[in-house]
Amino acid sequence: MIDNQVKEITKGKVKCLDYTKNAIKRIKEINKDNHYITTMCEDLAISQAKEIDSKTKKGKLAGTIFTIKDNICVKDVESTANSKILDGYKPIFDATVVEKLKREGAIIVGKDSCDAFGFGGFNVNVGVGKNIPKNPIDSSRTCGGSSGGSGGITKKADFVHVAIGESTGGSIECPSAFCGVVGFCPTYGLVSRWGLISYADSFDKIGVMTKTVEDNARVMSVIAGHDNKDGTSLKVDKKDYVKSMKEDSKKLKIAIIKDGLSEGTSQEVKESFNDMVETLKKDGFEIDEISLPLTFKYGIATYYILATSESSTNLSRFSGLRYGVEENKKGKYFDDYFSEIRSKNFNTESKRRIMLGTFTRMAGFRDAYYIKATKARTKIIEEYKNQFEKYDLLISPTMPIVPPKFSDIKKMSALEAYTMDILTVGPNLAGIPHASMPIHKGDLPIGMMVMADHLQEDKIYRLLKRIEELR
Ligand code: GLN
Repeated sequence: MIDNQVKEITKGKVKCLDYTKNAIKRIKEINKDNHYITTMCEDLAISQAKEIDSKTKKGKLAGTIFTIKDNICVKDVESTANSKILDGYKPIFDATVVEKLKREGAIIVGKDSCDAFGFGGFNVNVGVGKNIPKNPIDSSRTCGGSSGGSGGITKKADFVHVAIGESTGGSIECPSAFCGVVGFCPTYGLVSRWGLISYADSFDKIGVMTKTVEDNARVMSVIAGHDNKDGTSLKVDKKDYVKSMKEDSKKLKIAIIKDGLSEGTSQEVKESFNDMVETLKKDGFEIDEISLPLTFKYGIATYYILATSESSTNLSRFSGLRYGVEENKKGKYFDDYFSEIRSKNFNTESKRRIMLGTFTRMAGFRDAYYIKATKARTKIIEEYKNQFEKYDLLISPTMPIVPPKFSDIKKMSALEAYTMDILTVGPNLAGIPHASMPIHKGDLPIGMMVMADHLQEDKIYRLLKRIEELR
C-alpha cells in the first residue's frame, strides 16, 4: 500500500531511484504482450526519482508509481488520447491533476491505453494502427473501456501502482469491474479537468484506479479540490477520505437499484451481486430496493445524444492546422485538406460520433434531439436526487456482463455496444460520485457499483472499505 511505501522511501530505507528503475523494468515486461501503456516516460520518471531521493520533504505520495490515461496531458510526454490524429503531440504543460501528483512526490512512468478520445466501453476503439490491451485475467477478453489500459496495468502491476483514469459515461467503472480493481469517479467538478483532452465537457471527470480502497482514498484526497483554471471546478472544502473511510459504515442507508438486475443482466453477475448483498445484510446493514424508471428507460439515449453532441464540437479543432497532425497544405483548398487529414487519422468510432453529434445539434433537429436530451437529463438528475433524500447510497452491479471475449465484441453492433453502458450512464448523467468494487468469487472479475449524492464521496469510501474487509 502507498502508506508503507511512502514511509520506506521517506525514511530512506528504499532508494527511490532503484525502486523506480525496477518498476519501469517490470511494467515494460508486462506491457510486451498486454499493451496497457502507449508511451513510457522513463526520463521523466528517473529525474523525478532522483529529485525525491535528494529532498528531505518528499511528499504524501513519495515514490508511488503512477500511469496516466492518455487523454490527460503530461508535460513533454506524448499525449494523444490514443488517436492517430494527435500522434507526436507533446503538451508544454501538465494537467492540474498531474501537477498535484508530482508536487506530492508521485512518479509518472507512462500513459495508459484507452479508446481513442474515450469513445468506447471495450478499449477496442483504439486509434488507427494502435494496439488493443488484453484483460489481465484472460487475454482473450477485453479490459473494458475506455480506461482499459489503466485497469489492466493496475491489476497486473505486482507493486504499489495507481492509474489516473477518466469517465464520461462509465470509463472508470467499466474497466475497473472488468479488471477487478477499485475504480472511483468523483462528483462532476470535484477534480479539475484542466489539461484533459475533452470528450464531453459537461460529463468528463478524472478519477482514480487502485488495487486497494485505502490507496484510492489517499490519492483522491490529493487530487480533489478547486482549480482556477477550470471554470466548472467546485469551490468546496478539502476532505480527508482516508480518515472518513475508517468511520462506521453501519449507519449508512443503502438501497439496491432493482432495474439493474433485470433480464439484461447475466446470471453470473446477479449471483455475485446478490451474494455480496447477503453478506452485507448478515453484517448488519439494512438494504432496501428502489427503482429508477426514467433513468433506465431514457438513460442510454440521453447520454449518447448529449455525449456525441459535445464530442463532435470538441473534435472539430483537429483539422490539421492548429491542432493535430499536419501535412503539406500547398495548393490545397482548406475543405479538401482537412477532410483528407480527418479521414485518414480518425478511427471509425470517432467518425461515427462526429456524424451522430453533428446531426443531433443541426438546425431543424436540435429541438427534437439535443434540447430534448438536456431536459431528459434534468429529469434523471431529479430522479436520483429524490432517492438521496431517503438513502445515503445506491448500489447495483457495475456492468451487466463479465468481460466479453474479443470474438464476441466483433459480433456486436455499435448500438449493442452502447447498451452495455446501461448501468453506468445514469450516475454520469447526474454527475454524482460512484465507484466500482470487485466482488466476484469466480475467476472473472465482477464489480459492485456504489453511488452517492453529490460530494458525498466519503460515504462511498466507507462502504467500499467494509466490502473489502468482508470479501
Ligand atoms: N462507453 C461510453 C462511451 O463510449 C463511456 C465512455 C467514457 O466514459 N469515456 O461513451
